[in-house]
Amino acid sequence: MSRGLSRGARRKKVALKSVSPFRASGTETETDTETGQDDRLATVHIAETFTSLQGEGILAGIRSFFIRTSGCNLRCRWCDTPYASWSPEGKRRSVEELVAESEESGARFVVVTGGEPLLQREIGVLTERLQAVGMHVTVETAGTVEPPFRCNLLSLSPKTANSDPTGDARERHARLRGDVAVARRLLARFSDYQIKFVVEGADDMPEVLDILEGLGNVDPRRVLLMAQGRTAMEVSEKASGVAALCIEHGFRYTPRLHLDLFGGGRGV
Ligand code: SF4
Repeated sequence: MSRGLSRGARRKKVALKSVSPFRASGTETETDTETGQDDRLATVHIAETFTSLQGEGILAGIRSFFIRTSGCNLRCRWCDTPYASWSPEGKRRSVEELVAESEESGARFVVVTGGEPLLQREIGVLTERLQAVGMHVTVETAGTVEPPFRCNLLSLSPKTANSDPTGDARERHARLRGDVAVARRLLARFSDYQIKFVVEGADDMPEVLDILEGLGNVDPRRVLLMAQGRTAMEVSEKASGVAALCIEHGFRYTPRLHLDLFGGGRGV
Protein backbone atom coordinates (compact mmCIF):
# COMPACT_ATOMS: atom_id res chain seq x y z
CA MET A 1 0.00 0.00 0.00
CA SER A 2 2.97 2.30 -0.43
CA ARG A 3 1.97 5.54 -2.08
CA GLY A 4 3.70 8.59 -3.45
CA LEU A 5 3.73 11.64 -1.24
CA SER A 6 0.75 13.92 -1.48
CA ARG A 7 1.02 17.69 -1.44
CA GLY A 8 0.03 17.57 2.23
CA ALA A 9 2.67 15.00 2.94
CA ARG A 10 5.32 17.10 1.21
CA ARG A 11 4.34 20.00 3.45
CA LYS A 12 4.76 17.73 6.48
CA LYS A 13 8.27 16.92 5.35
CA VAL A 14 9.38 20.34 6.56
CA ALA A 15 8.06 19.62 10.03
CA LEU A 16 9.78 16.25 10.05
CA LYS A 17 13.24 17.72 9.69
CA SER A 18 13.94 18.31 13.37
CA VAL A 19 15.82 15.62 15.25
CA SER A 20 13.46 13.93 17.68
CA PRO A 21 14.39 13.37 21.30
CA PHE A 22 12.95 9.87 20.80
CA ARG A 23 15.69 8.85 18.40
CA ALA A 24 18.13 6.36 19.79
CA SER A 25 21.54 7.97 20.11
CA GLY A 26 24.36 6.87 17.87
CA THR A 27 22.13 5.85 14.98
CA GLU A 28 22.37 6.97 11.40
CA THR A 29 19.19 8.97 11.84
CA GLU A 30 21.10 11.69 13.67
CA THR A 31 23.35 12.42 10.71
CA ASP A 32 23.11 15.11 8.09
CA THR A 33 20.27 17.02 9.72
CA GLU A 34 20.82 20.16 7.60
CA THR A 35 19.68 18.33 4.49
CA GLY A 36 16.87 16.42 6.14
CA GLN A 37 18.59 13.11 5.49
CA ASP A 38 17.79 12.14 9.07
CA ASP A 39 14.09 11.87 8.31
CA ARG A 40 14.52 9.96 5.10
CA LEU A 41 16.61 7.44 7.03
CA ALA A 42 14.05 7.05 9.82
CA THR A 43 12.50 3.80 8.69
CA VAL A 44 10.42 1.08 10.27
CA HIS A 45 10.06 -2.56 9.18
CA ILE A 46 6.44 -2.80 8.04
CA ALA A 47 4.44 -5.95 7.27
CA GLU A 48 1.29 -4.16 6.14
CA THR A 49 -0.81 -1.01 6.47
CA PHE A 50 -4.55 -0.80 6.00
CA THR A 51 -7.70 1.00 7.05
CA SER A 52 -10.33 -1.04 8.87
CA LEU A 53 -12.38 -1.11 12.06
CA GLN A 54 -10.57 -1.72 15.30
CA GLY A 55 -11.58 -5.28 16.09
CA GLU A 56 -10.68 -5.62 19.75
CA GLY A 57 -10.61 -3.72 22.99
CA ILE A 58 -12.24 -0.58 24.32
CA LEU A 59 -12.04 1.13 20.90
CA ALA A 60 -13.63 -1.78 19.01
CA GLY A 61 -15.67 -0.62 16.04
CA ILE A 62 -13.77 2.64 15.45
CA ARG A 63 -12.41 3.26 11.98
CA SER A 64 -8.66 3.11 12.30
CA PHE A 65 -5.51 3.11 10.21
CA PHE A 66 -3.33 0.14 11.08
CA ILE A 67 0.45 0.12 10.89
CA ARG A 68 1.65 -3.44 11.41
CA THR A 69 5.35 -3.67 12.09
CA SER A 70 7.21 -6.85 11.22
CA GLY A 71 9.25 -8.85 13.72
CA CYS A 72 8.50 -10.20 17.16
CA ASN A 73 10.57 -11.58 20.03
CA LEU A 74 7.78 -13.98 21.07
CA ARG A 75 6.52 -17.08 19.29
CA CYS A 76 2.93 -17.60 20.42
CA ARG A 77 1.68 -20.98 19.22
CA TRP A 78 -1.65 -19.46 18.16
CA CYS A 79 -0.23 -16.29 16.60
CA ASP A 80 -2.63 -14.99 13.96
CA THR A 81 -0.03 -12.79 12.25
CA PRO A 82 2.87 -15.19 11.56
CA TYR A 83 3.93 -12.98 8.66
CA ALA A 84 4.89 -10.40 11.30
CA SER A 85 6.40 -12.78 13.85
CA TRP A 86 7.37 -16.39 13.05
CA SER A 87 8.18 -15.58 9.41
CA PRO A 88 8.46 -11.80 9.23
CA GLU A 89 7.72 -10.26 5.85
CA GLY A 90 7.56 -6.73 4.53
CA LYS A 91 10.04 -3.97 3.96
CA ARG A 92 11.41 -0.87 5.61
CA ARG A 93 9.30 2.22 5.06
CA SER A 94 9.98 5.78 6.10
CA VAL A 95 8.25 7.42 9.02
CA GLU A 96 7.42 10.30 6.74
CA GLU A 97 5.59 8.05 4.29
CA LEU A 98 3.72 6.21 7.05
CA VAL A 99 2.53 9.45 8.64
CA ALA A 100 1.38 10.76 5.26
CA GLU A 101 -0.50 7.55 4.53
CA SER A 102 -2.14 7.70 7.95
CA GLU A 103 -3.43 11.18 7.22
CA GLU A 104 -4.62 10.23 3.76
CA SER A 105 -6.62 7.34 5.23
CA GLY A 106 -9.07 9.82 6.71
CA ALA A 107 -9.05 7.95 10.01
CA ARG A 108 -8.36 9.88 13.19
CA PHE A 109 -7.24 6.78 15.03
CA VAL A 110 -4.06 4.90 14.22
CA VAL A 111 -3.11 1.53 15.66
CA VAL A 112 0.57 0.66 15.75
CA THR A 113 0.68 -3.09 16.08
CA GLY A 114 2.77 -6.05 15.08
CA GLY A 115 4.58 -8.30 15.53
CA GLU A 116 6.04 -6.40 18.44
CA PRO A 117 6.15 -2.71 17.49
CA LEU A 118 8.30 -1.79 20.47
CA LEU A 119 11.21 -3.71 18.91
CA GLN A 120 11.41 -1.13 16.13
CA ARG A 121 14.29 1.26 16.72
CA GLU A 122 12.32 4.22 15.35
CA ILE A 123 9.07 3.51 17.23
CA GLY A 124 9.55 6.70 19.25
CA VAL A 125 9.92 8.85 16.16
CA LEU A 126 6.96 7.22 14.44
CA THR A 127 4.58 7.61 17.38
CA GLU A 128 5.72 11.15 18.06
CA ARG A 129 5.11 12.17 14.45
CA LEU A 130 1.70 10.51 14.34
CA GLN A 131 0.63 12.44 17.42
CA ALA A 132 2.10 15.63 15.99
CA VAL A 133 -0.36 15.49 13.07
CA GLY A 134 -3.28 14.95 15.43
CA MET A 135 -3.72 11.20 15.32
CA HIS A 136 -4.96 9.23 18.33
CA VAL A 137 -2.28 6.59 18.67
CA THR A 138 -2.85 3.12 20.12
CA VAL A 139 0.26 1.02 20.59
CA GLU A 140 -0.37 -2.72 20.89
CA THR A 141 2.39 -4.61 22.68
CA ALA A 142 3.04 -7.81 24.59
CA GLY A 143 5.02 -5.69 27.05
CA THR A 144 8.41 -7.39 27.01
CA VAL A 145 10.52 -4.38 25.99
CA GLU A 146 10.32 -0.73 27.03
CA PRO A 147 11.84 1.78 24.62
CA PRO A 148 10.86 5.47 24.57
CA PHE A 149 7.64 6.05 22.62
CA ARG A 150 4.35 7.90 22.84
CA CYS A 151 0.74 6.79 22.69
CA ASN A 152 -2.76 7.87 23.65
CA LEU A 153 -3.75 4.32 24.55
CA LEU A 154 -1.34 1.63 25.67
CA SER A 155 -2.83 -1.71 24.69
CA LEU A 156 -0.94 -4.29 26.69
CA SER A 157 -1.41 -7.98 25.94
CA PRO A 158 0.61 -10.09 28.37
CA LYS A 159 0.98 -13.66 27.24
CA THR A 160 0.22 -16.69 29.42
CA ALA A 161 1.35 -20.30 29.24
CA ASN A 162 -1.42 -21.04 26.75
CA SER A 163 0.74 -19.23 24.19
CA ASP A 164 3.85 -21.36 24.70
CA PRO A 165 5.02 -23.05 21.52
CA THR A 166 6.64 -26.43 21.25
CA GLY A 167 10.18 -26.86 20.02
CA ASP A 168 13.28 -24.69 20.21
CA ALA A 169 11.45 -21.39 20.73
CA ARG A 170 9.65 -22.53 23.87
CA GLU A 171 12.25 -21.68 26.54
CA ARG A 172 12.98 -18.18 25.24
CA HIS A 173 9.32 -17.41 24.69
CA ALA A 174 8.40 -18.48 28.24
CA ARG A 175 11.28 -16.52 29.77
CA LEU A 176 10.44 -13.30 27.93
CA ARG A 177 6.70 -13.39 28.55
CA GLY A 178 7.29 -14.20 32.22
CA ASP A 179 9.08 -10.94 33.08
CA VAL A 180 6.09 -8.95 34.31
CA ALA A 181 8.31 -6.16 35.66
CA VAL A 182 8.76 -4.75 32.15
CA ALA A 183 4.99 -4.57 31.58
CA ARG A 184 4.52 -2.99 35.01
CA ARG A 185 6.98 -0.21 34.15
CA LEU A 186 5.24 0.35 30.81
CA LEU A 187 1.87 0.72 32.53
CA ALA A 188 3.31 3.27 34.93
CA ARG A 189 4.18 5.51 31.98
CA PHE A 190 0.68 5.79 30.49
CA SER A 191 -2.54 6.81 32.21
CA ASP A 192 -4.81 5.47 29.46
CA TYR A 193 -4.37 1.76 29.03
CA GLN A 194 -6.10 -1.55 28.47
CA ILE A 195 -4.88 -5.02 29.30
CA LYS A 196 -6.03 -7.79 26.99
CA PHE A 197 -5.66 -11.48 27.76
CA VAL A 198 -6.17 -14.25 25.24
CA VAL A 199 -7.84 -17.06 27.16
CA GLU A 200 -8.88 -20.60 26.36
CA GLY A 201 -11.04 -21.04 29.44
CA ALA A 202 -11.16 -21.14 33.22
CA ASP A 203 -7.83 -22.97 33.50
CA ASP A 204 -6.07 -19.79 32.37
CA MET A 205 -7.49 -17.61 35.14
CA PRO A 206 -5.06 -18.39 37.99
CA GLU A 207 -2.19 -17.23 35.77
CA VAL A 208 -4.15 -14.19 34.56
CA LEU A 209 -4.78 -13.17 38.17
CA ASP A 210 -1.12 -13.74 39.06
CA ILE A 211 -0.01 -11.49 36.21
CA LEU A 212 -2.47 -8.79 37.24
CA GLU A 213 -1.16 -8.94 40.78
CA GLY A 214 2.35 -8.51 39.41
CA LEU A 215 1.26 -5.51 37.36
CA GLY A 216 0.19 -3.68 40.51
CA ASN A 217 -2.78 -1.38 40.90
CA VAL A 218 -4.80 -2.24 37.80
CA ASP A 219 -8.39 -1.08 37.21
CA PRO A 220 -10.39 -4.27 36.48
CA ARG A 221 -12.61 -2.29 34.11
CA ARG A 222 -9.54 -1.93 31.89
CA VAL A 223 -8.88 -5.66 31.86
CA LEU A 224 -10.36 -7.47 28.88
CA LEU A 225 -10.63 -11.15 28.12
CA MET A 226 -10.86 -12.44 24.58
CA ALA A 227 -11.33 -15.98 23.40
CA GLN A 228 -8.40 -17.65 21.69
CA GLY A 229 -9.11 -18.49 18.08
CA ARG A 230 -7.96 -17.71 14.59
CA THR A 231 -11.40 -17.97 13.06
CA ALA A 232 -14.81 -16.64 14.03
CA MET A 233 -15.97 -20.22 14.61
CA GLU A 234 -13.10 -21.04 16.96
CA VAL A 235 -13.78 -17.84 18.92
CA SER A 236 -17.53 -18.45 19.06
CA GLU A 237 -16.99 -21.93 20.53
CA LYS A 238 -15.24 -20.36 23.54
CA ALA A 239 -17.08 -17.05 23.73
CA SER A 240 -19.77 -17.95 26.25
CA GLY A 241 -17.22 -19.49 28.59
CA VAL A 242 -15.01 -16.40 28.38
CA ALA A 243 -18.04 -14.15 28.93
CA ALA A 244 -18.85 -16.12 32.10
CA LEU A 245 -15.29 -15.54 33.31
CA CYS A 246 -15.71 -11.80 32.72
CA ILE A 247 -18.91 -11.80 34.79
CA GLU A 248 -17.25 -13.79 37.55
CA HIS A 249 -14.15 -11.60 37.80
CA GLY A 250 -15.54 -8.19 36.88
CA PHE A 251 -13.49 -7.95 33.68
CA ARG A 252 -14.61 -6.73 30.29
CA TYR A 253 -15.35 -9.01 27.36
CA THR A 254 -13.91 -8.05 24.03
CA PRO A 255 -15.20 -9.32 20.73
CA ARG A 256 -12.88 -9.91 17.78
CA LEU A 257 -14.83 -7.99 15.20
CA HIS A 258 -12.30 -8.41 12.40
CA LEU A 259 -12.98 -12.16 12.51
CA ASP A 260 -16.78 -11.74 12.67
CA LEU A 261 -16.98 -9.09 9.96
CA PHE A 262 -14.13 -9.88 7.62
CA GLY A 263 -13.10 -13.44 8.41
CA GLY A 264 -9.60 -12.58 9.56
CA GLY A 265 -6.48 -12.75 7.41
CA ARG A 266 -4.33 -9.91 6.19
CA GLY A 267 -5.46 -6.34 5.85
CA VAL A 268 -8.40 -6.38 8.24
S1 SF4 B 1 3.27 -11.44 20.61
FE1 SF4 B 1 1.68 -11.17 19.03
S2 SF4 B 1 2.82 -11.06 17.06
FE2 SF4 B 1 4.23 -11.90 18.61
S3 SF4 B 1 4.03 -14.14 18.34
FE3 SF4 B 1 2.60 -13.50 19.99
S4 SF4 B 1 0.62 -13.15 18.94
FE4 SF4 B 1 2.24 -13.20 17.35
